[in-house]
Order: sequence, then structure tokens, then C-alpha cells
Amino acid sequence: MAQLIDGKVISKQIKDELKEKVAELKENGTEICLAVIQVGNDTASSVYVGNKKKACEYIGIKSLAYELPEETTEAELLNLIDKLNHDDAVNGILVQLPVPEHIDEDKIIKAISPLKDVDGFHPMSVGALSIGQPGFVSCTPAGVIQLLKRSGIEIAGKECVVIGRSNIVGKPMSMLLLRENGTVTICHSRTKNLKEVCRRADILVVAVGKPKMIDASYVKEGAVVIDVGIHRDENNKLCGDVDFASVEPIAGAITPVPGGVGPMTIAMLMNNCVESINIR
Ligand code: NAD
Repeated sequence: MAQLIDGKVISKQIKDELKEKVAELKENGTEICLAVIQVGNDTASSVYVGNKKKACEYIGIKSLAYELPEETTEAELLNLIDKLNHDDAVNGILVQLPVPEHIDEDKIIKAISPLKDVDGFHPMSVGALSIGQPGFVSCTPAGVIQLLKRSGIEIAGKECVVIGRSNIVGKPMSMLLLRENGTVTICHSRTKNLKEVCRRADILVVAVGKPKMIDASYVKEGAVVIDVGIHRDENNKLCGDVDFASVEPIAGAITPVPGGVGPMTIAMLMNNCVESINIR
């Protein structure tokens, strides 16, 4: 039986630690403020934005909500970002993605000041991560590192295999594992012999975006398996990129879906908001 890595418990620990820090900062006259911008009313985005607001309330971070109509122009959105970039009372700016098609997502990401880029998507943040300088780190991969560390799993010197090379998960995940002194291999859609490469892993991080694709045949006995995927299966139940029933009996430790990586993303967003006072 694998050790179950409980993202609900670990994310709650992190949020409680942040709550204490935020209370201390408030006593010393510093308030932390996150501006969240949503364009249009995509249902999934509204749920994410709602959860972010709730987490801010729990921790004591002030949140400013900008709910803009679908027909908002790119120029209007860029204007708002510029205003928030120059507002000293705002520590973090988050534009909920995806934005409607008539808005260039890349331009929006680049418009947010790297000093307020709590999602960690700005090229300056990504660059800082790759050369080991302080900066905001993408929340989901940062959450995976916390799951490993807080479960007592050593990364240094381990064979780490990441499946997926997206800008928000796979690539920053690989950089973070490298920063923790792991020996890192990145797999993607053109990787040959995926199973063989995965079976080398002491730590296998799966962000492939394909429901239940990774079964026991990809996993070395005793490996730590982190499942970043989120999907609905044929019975409308949440599942990950890993076939949990197949992998759990042979893994050393594993994250469930739901309740693994998922809750960590918001906890690390909150962490980035609090960290923003050091990045200024
Ligand atoms: P993505 O689709 O952008 O990237 C998937 C990656 O997998 C690509 O780099 C691709 O090269 C690789 N890939 C695709 N098919 C492959 C194959 N057959 N073999 C090897 N590699 C293959 O996805 P993403 O945005 O990185 O997200 C990955 C998963 O994580 C999704 O299920 C997504 O829903 C989930 N996700 C979860 C959170 C969270 O908070 N838990 C956050 C972001 C993404």
C-alpha cells in the first residue's frame, strides 16, 4: 500500500501558516491585497475565481474583484492592468485564464508587472526561475514541491521524470525539481519509449492531460507518483492522468485526485501573494 500524499491536509497547513503571517503583517501596518480580473463568465473560471476569493478571506488577504464583460477590449484590459501595476496598495495581479479569443493572452501576461505577477507566468518570472533568482513561481508546480517536502520525500539526487512540457506545469516543474537537486528528465508527446523512461523514475510527476493514461506499467515499484491531471471520467467522477487503482498497489507514495495536487495550487497562490512583499 502506497503512502497517500494528502493535498487537503498539506494545503490547510500552508494556509494556516500564511494566516498567522498575514495577521503579524497587519499588526505592523502592512496589508496584502490581490486584484483578480475575470473577463466574461466562463463557468469553470467563475468557480476558480470564487475559490481564490474564499482563500483570500480565510487568510486575511484583501481581494479586489474585477468582473469584466465578455466584450471588454484588449486595450481596456491593458489599461486596467496598467492602473493596478501603478497602485501601491495592490501587491498581486491575477488575470483568470483563458481570456476571450479577441484578447491576446500573451500580451496580457507580459503586461502584468513582474513585481506583481503572482501566477508566475511573466517571462521575467520564468527567466528568474531558470537562473535561480528570486521571483514568482507558477503555483501548481510550486505546490508539488511542497507536497514532496512536507511528506518527507527527499528530491536531491533522485531520478525525477516529468511527463508534460507546458509553460504552466511541465517546464516550471522540471526547473523546480532541478533547483532541488533532482536529476530531471522531461517527457512529451514526441518522447520515444515513454514507459521505459518513466520506469527509471524515483519521482514521477504526471502532467500529460490524458485521463488515467499512466498505469502500473509506467511505474517502478516503490516510486513516488504525483498526478497533476484533473478530468471527469465516464461516470462524471473526478480522476487524474494516473490510473490510481492500477498504480497505487505498487507505488511508494501517490497523490489522489481529487485531494492531491488540486488544493495546493490556491495555497501556493496565497503564498505568492504573501511573498510579494519580499519581491517588491
Ligand atoms: P497541456 O495539454 O498544456 O500539456 C500536456 C503535455 O503533455 C504536453 O507538453 C505534451 O507534450 C505532453 N503529452 C501529451 N500527450 C503525450 C503523450 N502521449 N506522451 C507523452 N507526453 C504527452 O496540459 P497542462 O496545462 O500542462 O496540464 C496537464 C494536466 O494537469 C491537465 O490534466 C490539466 O487539467 C491539469 N492541471 C491541473 C492543475 C491543478 O491545479 N491541479 C493546474 C494546471 C493543470
